[in-house]
Amino acid sequence: MYRTAVVGAGFAGLAAAYRLQSAGHEVTLLEARDRVGGRVWSSELPTCSGARIIERGAEFVLPDYYRMRELVEELGLRLVKTGMSYYVREPGDAPGITAADITAAGATAARILAASPAGTTAEDVLRQIEADPLLVDALRCRIEISTAVDAADVTASTLNHVASFTPQPSSRLAGGNQSLAKALAERLGSALRLRMPVSRVVALPEGGAAVTTAEGPERYDAVIIALPLGVLRQGGAVDSPTSESRERALRGVVQGHAVKLHAPLRSVPPTSAIMSVTGRYWTWTAIDASGEVAPVLNSFMGSEAAIARADVANDPADWLRGVRDFRPDLDIADEALATVWSSDPFALGAYSAHAPTFTPADAAALEDPIGDVHFAGEYTEAVYTGLMEGALRSGERAADRVHATLGITTEVAR
Ligand code: FAD
Repeated sequence: MYRTAVVGAGFAGLAAAYRLQSAGHEVTLLEARDRVGGRVWSSELPTCSGARIIERGAEFVLPDYYRMRELVEELGLRLVKTGMSYYVREPGDAPGITAADITAAGATAARILAASPAGTTAEDVLRQIEADPLLVDALRCRIEISTAVDAADVTASTLNHVASFTPQPSSRLAGGNQSLAKALAERLGSALRLRMPVSRVVALPEGGAAVTTAEGPERYDAVIIALPLGVLRQGGAVDSPTSESRERALRGVVQGHAVKLHAPLRSVPPTSAIMSVTGRYWTWTAIDASGEVAPVLNSFMGSEAAIARADVANDPADWLRGVRDFRPDLDIADEALATVWSSDPFALGAYSAHAPTFTPADAAALEDPIGDVHFAGEYTEAVYTGLMEGALRSGERAADRVHATLGITTEVAR
């Protein structure tokens, strides 16, 4: 039986390990934290109507997450509609501009994008829109929040997916999105090893790969590295194999940064989705598994520049004060919970997006193994980059490649 190690128990690593185990491989899934899920992290927040589940990382399950929906069904989990749309946010501090105006400007942007050459940035497209500058800035804000990257640094094709404006419904998993990670972990059983940070992965010239943890190096027939881009980029965090084409491809991936803020409300609000154009954040209230709107303020600030301007990584109190002024319709309690992903040592960022220089050859290079070392993670997925769906797909893709390379037999093959 072949032995494969998977490094990182986020959605990508869990999906890879589950796929391989189901195909008959002996799998070891090594995770640095004391929990699974990585950037999918569901917690309980005490509120006036009991504890409610909040998503400190990934929240919205979008309609085209086909693979995630299949897994949700297979694992006996349930999606619940949020009652608001991730795609439609009313601008709260742009007088005279409505969500419908932003949607119309988004459609203009999509037309400009369709006629633009490769290498166009989102900012290049914004510059060509002939409209009220405040409306263009509202559109810029929407793009920068959703990609968590400055519009000048991200490819314009992001408008086709992450920053799309169609008013489609959004969902979450009942019990929290992390329940998908927990369900996969349960099936993996003793294959999962928590609190086991990996410091080094080496592709061995004779085939196979060695993985180093505090317990020392261990040889496997294949390894899937399912670590976040931020961790891989931080020199010295994990020593892993690379190649010229992989390094070139990685230069075409931009690291997004985001902070989330949650606070209990003293009364139950209606659903809402309101964006602060000046603050580069949005706020929402949504239905949860109870079928009622949860008395919880949710907020998300995106892009490194916006986070630095508001200094939320050091002290989110000003942001909370700002949100209070911005949402006088909500009765926000005093205590709030901020989640800063850029300073989380096992994430070092929120999620990735493509730079305008990113090419199809780069997409292929990110998927390419180096010897028997394979790569998964949202940043390696060409279409659903930065998303839960991308993480799951990348893990399954890497697992299929390992399986195709090694095959499966009960004999020791080499
Ligand atoms: P991760 O989940 O980061 O998994 C990597 C794992 O590797 C982690 O468990 C980490 O602890 C582990 N690790 C790190 N270092 C080591 C080491 N040295 N040794 C062993 N293990 C290690 N996506 C959506 O689809 N919808 C959303 O609404 C959405 N919102 C988001 C909001 C925020 C604030 C953030 C941060 C992300 C959001 N995302 C969203 C993106 C989504 O969370 C990610 O795309 C996805 O979860 C990434 O999964 P992954 O497996 O690639 O990486």
